[in-house]
Amino acid sequence: MIEINNLVRKFGNKYALDGVSFTVGKGEIVGFLGPNGAGKSTTMNIITGYLSPTSGSVSVDGIDVFSEPLKVKRLIGFLPEQPPLYIDMTVWEYLSFVFDLKGCDYNKRAHLEEICDLVKITDVKRRLIKNLSKGYKQRVGIASAIIGNPPVIIFDEPTVGLDPKQIIEIRTLLRSLAKNHTIILSTHILSEVQAVCDRIVVINEGKIIADQKTAKLSETLGQNNRFRVKIAGPSKEVSNLLKTIHSVTKVTQDGVREGDAFNFIVEYNGSVDIRKMMFRALADKGWPILAMEGVEISLEDLFVKLIENNLREDLK
Ligand code: ADP
Ligand code: MG
Repeated sequence: MIEINNLVRKFGNKYALDGVSFTVGKGEIVGFLGPNGAGKSTTMNIITGYLSPTSGSVSVDGIDVFSEPLKVKRLIGFLPEQPPLYIDMTVWEYLSFVFDLKGCDYNKRAHLEEICDLVKITDVKRRLIKNLSKGYKQRVGIASAIIGNPPVIIFDEPTVGLDPKQIIEIRTLLRSLAKNHTIILSTHILSEVQAVCDRIVVINEGKIIADQKTAKLSETLGQNNRFRVKIAGPSKEVSNLLKTIHSVTKVTQDGVREGDAFNFIVEYNGSVDIRKMMFRALADKGWPILAMEGVEISLEDLFVKLIENNLREDLK
């Protein structure tokens, strides 16, 4: 559905994109993951025809973005990093303005009501945009992107600046859109793409460094599962006991102490859930577990792993 071919974009002497290529199949939901400054927005702005590349090509549904930009724009609903909202309009006025701009041939009222319902802004549709919270403004941006029901949706960091509850709502919305749209979603948060995407394309310093099914990437990461556990007991002995548990590779302390309890970071290999084993081993000794939580792998850890894996591939 989307073909991105060897995109290069220079700003002055600096390469923001240095040969970016990937494809997105019809109906796929692809996460575009990378740290700030990696080139995500530049890529998305080029795909949507808002920025021209120094070289390379993009086609959407077989149509070249640079020779037929209007045709392509009609196929894409785009939520830029900073959605251009007219804040002195009410939500409804703004959405009908966008509807007219896009020249949609749906029944306007019914279509806009359906969209307001979908993104849950019906309650605020008569309010001025400038009086809305950040989360609601973001939803208005999303609403305007999906007006006209474009087959392709491109969202640039849709959950940035939102609180956890709003993030979950946007994710749910993305999943419901995924049923009949092709979606690219950018983010600098690993767990975000793992939660909603079929495939993950990782970009760093203008280059694609991974392009894998989410399950496959999770497998790569799964080799490094971690828990933070707070245990009351003699720290040295507790640590030694944890190390004897099957598949545990490393036990460290993070220095946090609460009375006679210490925080341990337990790392283990493979897919066996070690929590029950930890519980039994510690219960035998009478050392209670006061808290336990999974520790997420960071983007930096992911990069280290990907680069290690690439090196290993190269050595084969
Ligand atoms: P991301 O969205 O992944 O955070 P961007 O695509 O915005 O990254 O930026 C990629 C690189 O290109 C960064 O180094 C950024 O500073 C640079 N860049 C982006 N837009 C411009 C611009 N208009 N002028 C100069 N440099 C830019
Ligand atoms: Mg960006």
